Amino acid sequence: MTAKLFYDDLYAKEFDAEIVSQSGHEGRYNIILDRTLFYPGGGGQPCDLGTLSGVEVLEVLEHGDDIIHITASPVEGRNVHGIIDWSRRFELMQQHLGEHLFAGCIWNLHHIHTDRMRIEGDNVSIDTDIPEDINALLEAEAAANEAVWQNIPVEVIYPDMNEIREHARKLPPENTIPPVRIVKVEGVDYVPCCGLHVSSTGQVGLVKVTSCENHKGGSRIYLRCGRAAYRWLASVYGEVRKAEAELVCGYDSINEKIAILKSQIRDLKAQNDATVSRFLKPLADSLVSEAELQGGRKIIRHIMTQSGQDDVKHLFRLITEYDPEAVALLAGVNDAGIFLTFGTSRGNKGVDVRPAFRKAIELLGGKGGGSPFCAQGWGKNAEILSEAIDEAVKTLQA
Ligand SMILES: [Zn+2]
Repeated sequence: MTAKLFYDDLYAKEFDAEIVSQSGHEGRYNIILDRTLFYPGGGGQPCDLGTLSGVEVLEVLEHGDDIIHITASPVEGRNVHGIIDWSRRFELMQQHLGEHLFAGCIWNLHHIHTDRMRIEGDNVSIDTDIPEDINALLEAEAAANEAVWQNIPVEVIYPDMNEIREHARKLPPENTIPPVRIVKVEGVDYVPCCGLHVSSTGQVGLVKVTSCENHKGGSRIYLRCGRAAYRWLASVYGEVRKAEAELVCGYDSINEKIAILKSQIRDLKAQNDATVSRFLKPLADSLVSEAELQGGRKIIRHIMTQSGQDDVKHLFRLITEYDPEAVALLAGVNDAGIFLTFGTSRGNKGVDVRPAFRKAIELLGGKGGGSPFCAQGWGKNAEILSEAIDEAVKTLQA
């Protein structure tokens, strides 16, 4: 049975212990000590890392009454000196208490129940069974930060079950054997928890909601707390500074500037469409008027050089607008390759361009697909493009 020193002193960083057992092979050793500061993980909080007499601890697990330290190489001797990665542990304790503050506040203010806390890197996530409620999130965030500024001590108590039932935000799992470890922040939270937390709320520093997503009919809330929240804000500030420089404005005008740019892009697109139409209309017009019926169908074939998919799609739209009965086999060739659009208007029932398209795209060594009315894709072998379209015409007439 390993004595859990981490519960006695949350701020101890080093310890001495004796090896009780060591087993394994090169690459993975399991070391059990008589006592340890290494928290094995639990309640959503990852395990501690660090070193045992200079040997790196890769993982820490709890197995029955023992705590197992996993290393890649053996530890020499019977007595060991352990050092935990304090920066990691402190951040995990900040994140864990930050989660309690947020979960306690959203429960107290809105009776929203949260569950399945996980700390993964800089993210703390919790699940709720209700959809995102942005007002509730922001109110709970504000209240959690108020609790931080009040610097309330964090108590660990072992009350009887009646008191727990009366006060706890959630009950311990059914199979829990008393005494139940309760983590209490006066006026904010009272919850069963086996994890480690900083000893006062002020040490959390900051609680920030960073996102919320739909999850299994409810929502998953992401938080950053403590140093992880600071890192996040520093990175967001860096991005905001870049946007300010690009847009030549202050952060409070970024959205206004983006709206102006989007509207300018819309106008330019409309102008571009109008210009392209002016150039393509005469071509569409002559293709439609010069096309002859072939096997009872008006088949229009045309290859556009130095043209990409936008031009081909535009010409296709114009042709099917001018003559809904026409079947267009169009290709655009430029440095990017060959773009094919075969199709007709949606009203032209009884036409399926897919077999003809497949024939051509196969010959051209390309890929693509679509509906009976319109198939599109990219091909390569430009030197046989004309023959490929010949074959497609034959397939259409078959
Ligand atoms: Zn906790």
